[in-house]
Amino acid sequence: MDNLNLYEVLGVAPDASDEEIKKNYRKLAKEFHPDKNPDAGDKFKEISFAYEVLSDPEKRRIYDRYGLKGLQEGAEGFSDASEFFAQWFPFDRVSPGGRGRRGGKVVVKVELTLEEIYVGGMKKKLEYKRQKLCPKCNGDGGPKEARESCETCGGAGQAAAFTFMGLSAFDATCPACDGRGFTIKEDKKCSPCQGSGFVEEKMKRDLVVERGVPHMLKVPFANEGNQMRGGEFGDLIVVIAQLDHQLFQRRHANLYMRDLEINITEALCGYTHCFKHLDGRNVCLGTHPGEVLQHGHIKMVRGGGMPVFNKATDSGDLYLKFKVKFPENDFATPAQLAMLEDLLPPRQQVVIPKNAEEVQMADYKPQSRQPDDEDGQSPHFEGVQCQTA
Ligand SMILES: [Zn+2]
Ligand SMILES: [Zn+2]
Repeated sequence: MDNLNLYEVLGVAPDASDEEIKKNYRKLAKEFHPDKNPDAGDKFKEISFAYEVLSDPEKRRIYDRYGLKGLQEGAEGFSDASEFFAQWFPFDRVSPGGRGRRGGKVVVKVELTLEEIYVGGMKKKLEYKRQKLCPKCNGDGGPKEARESCETCGGAGQAAAFTFMGLSAFDATCPACDGRGFTIKEDKKCSPCQGSGFVEEKMKRDLVVERGVPHMLKVPFANEGNQMRGGEFGDLIVVIAQLDHQLFQRRHANLYMRDLEINITEALCGYTHCFKHLDGRNVCLGTHPGEVLQHGHIKMVRGGGMPVFNKATDSGDLYLKFKVKFPENDFATPAQLAMLEDLLPPRQQVVIPKNAEEVQMADYKPQSRQPDDEDGQSPHFEGVQCQTA
């Protein structure tokens, strides 16, 4: 099942149009319908499942990019929150007159700044929509006498409502009738729910931010998700999305400060730097007298990082990296340079051989190369003429 090719199941090409997919699905669903073909039960489920995925542009996109595993794993499979949510949310909405096809789970993203995660304790107000059974028709969608057998699944909607091995997020219910096997006659459809049996409910809930909460943590709230056909409620899943920060990057409880640019005087003669930490505290750090900061040097402030989640008495560390900026050309007179040279380590003594050729060095600036300029040479040797034998 894990290697199931959904396009092959429906006998269409990977670039098939929605129309082709629908046409083949109907043809195959008829052929392998359990009523006609009782031995082909699994085949029918496969066909239903393939149609469920390929008829939904969002699910189809996820399947094309990530395969069945992508559908199966949902959020777990994605490292980048925005990528995941961009794909997910479009079909996590209740469409107008929604057919109630969704599972009970509702996923809501809450974005937190690094400051909020550092400090914790604040309340975030979440607003989201969920589906619930229509109070006017009790979820029936219309009067019982207005029911007619579903054309798409030939009334077998319920039979196809089967969870695929591990693919619990998407069952193979008939998308046209939501697995009920019937639809409501057009003119008898209940008006608030347009025959689906579901209406949309606006929900609010508060979320207290815990100190050090990890990026992409899923916080479940039982029974605050969608109501399902049977009346039971699914869960609300709040996903924590940490926003990028100007100054810090976070890895677990450690913080990495953006590279600190220092000049040569600071590197040699002493350096002090003050910054606002994530809780607004002013923090200053500096070198000891006589200490030299090398270019690329990394320093650490123990306990200067994020609070450890669920153990807020502990903190991670803060890492800082230094970039030494040298002065511009001609920053000093020859006399001043001589004084400077007295202080600095001695230069290497060079003996210039007799008849040595003196060549000029030019500044090298990396440039984006024209595609037709490609000669297979590394940029280091640009401008150097090849010897032709
Ligand atoms: Zn209704
Ligand atoms: Zn149906």
